[in-house]
Amino acid sequence: MAKRVAKKSWAEPYKIKMVEPIKMTTRGYREKAAKEAGYNTFLLKSEDVYIDLLTDSGTNAMSDYQWAGMMLGDEAYAGSRNFYYLWDNVKKYYGMPYFVPTHQGRAAEHMISKIMIKPGDFIPGNMYFTTTRVHQELAGGTFVDVIIDEAHDAQSKHPFKGNVDPRKLEALIKKVGADKIPYVFMAGPVNMAGGQPFSMANLKEVSKLTEKYGVKLWFDATRATENAYFIKMKEKGYEKKSIEQILLEMCSYYDGLWVSAKKDLMVNIGGFLATRNKKVFEEARNMVVIYEGLHSYGGLAGRDMEAMARGLEEMVQFDNISMRVRQVEYCGAELEKYGVPLVYPFGGHAIFLDAKRFLPHLKQDLFPAQTLAAEIYIDSGVRGMERGLVSSGRDAKTGEHRYPKLELVRLTFPRRVYTQSHIDVMVESIADVYEKRKSMKGLKMVYEPKYLRFFQARFKKL
Ligand SMILES: *Cc1c(COP(=O)(O)O)cnc(C)c1O
Repeated sequence: MAKRVAKKSWAEPYKIKMVEPIKMTTRGYREKAAKEAGYNTFLLKSEDVYIDLLTDSGTNAMSDYQWAGMMLGDEAYAGSRNFYYLWDNVKKYYGMPYFVPTHQGRAAEHMISKIMIKPGDFIPGNMYFTTTRVHQELAGGTFVDVIIDEAHDAQSKHPFKGNVDPRKLEALIKKVGADKIPYVFMAGPVNMAGGQPFSMANLKEVSKLTEKYGVKLWFDATRATENAYFIKMKEKGYEKKSIEQILLEMCSYYDGLWVSAKKDLMVNIGGFLATRNKKVFEEARNMVVIYEGLHSYGGLAGRDMEAMARGLEEMVQFDNISMRVRQVEYCGAELEKYGVPLVYPFGGHAIFLDAKRFLPHLKQDLFPAQTLAAEIYIDSGVRGMERGLVSSGRDAKTGEHRYPKLELVRLTFPRRVYTQSHIDVMVESIADVYEKRKSMKGLKMVYEPKYLRFFQARFKKL
């Protein structure tokens, strides 16, 4: 018998039981579709997309275990069985005693901002996130970026580019005063930096600092299991700990957290906030009635909460999270072979193309990342999204563009949806676009909405 050797290859830890056919289109068809969508990938029709890497938000494939749970929805207006099961699992996996469900993550951000922020306050965080910052600003606060400098450098290979710089944080506290800072927040991994994690050591340091000044520390735990995975793989002392243990330890340093369940929990809709702060909990439980629905469903059906509760049990399984991050790594390693400029290290949920180096002949005003996302769609029907000048928006006070250092196209992997063969096709297309890069001339914005403009802005080709 042949000797068994250590295996280098890996495969998806599931098999396919139901399929959803996808439409194949021609280049001519896609050119027309892109033009009609104002060269904004958010405005394309899903049925015109071949491989959809727009986002990992709500695009997950649920397991048979989750689908079976959908049949057990207790659709009572008040006190649904699924709500209590979900609450138990939130306590178990995040270690937070109090819980309020919401229809999405931004609804939780909205309530937390309204409850905690007073006009004139400052909210430091490890880089902005679009919906997080807009709610902080609408509540009268000013977001302050206290992430380490390496996070703004696409080429830095720092293993924990999501870390907070404690010196920046302390300097801000000293400058504006602790009473002007309702809370510090950390997201992990940091989406806008390219899916970069923070380390447990950094979290401990930040937690000590916030304790010293009596400032609360909150967690955007939307992709917390990816952060836990990176800690396990990269940080000394965590190699033997389970994802479940690392997640609990992370959460133990926070006063509370919010989650978009459309990510880690592998469902199509849902969110929540969870906290150990009874006062915030009581206010949120009251407020949710105005914006979302009764505190025992928060804008969700009973069956949605059941799928979330079951998703929580699956998200902490090592095979599940490891396959996810390794799929992203595989894509990055393949693109690298063609010399395509990427953000390093590869993130947990997405590969980011460095549009500044991909299209160095285009000034940032010509929207290089927006241009690149449109060209990739036209080439092969692969849909990514812009994370650059358009996403960054305008300064709330001056009305000027906020020019971000990073000008990126994000290719985000829906959980359990695509196979390695899809990735191979996508890589070939991006390599082709890279060959033709000099022919691209940029875009002009012809329609700009007031809030979160990247979702609905329209462009014309130059
Ligand atoms: C998606 C996301 C949100 C917002 O959640 P929604 O469910 O889309 O409203 C907040 N923070 C992060 C890090 C996210 O990725």
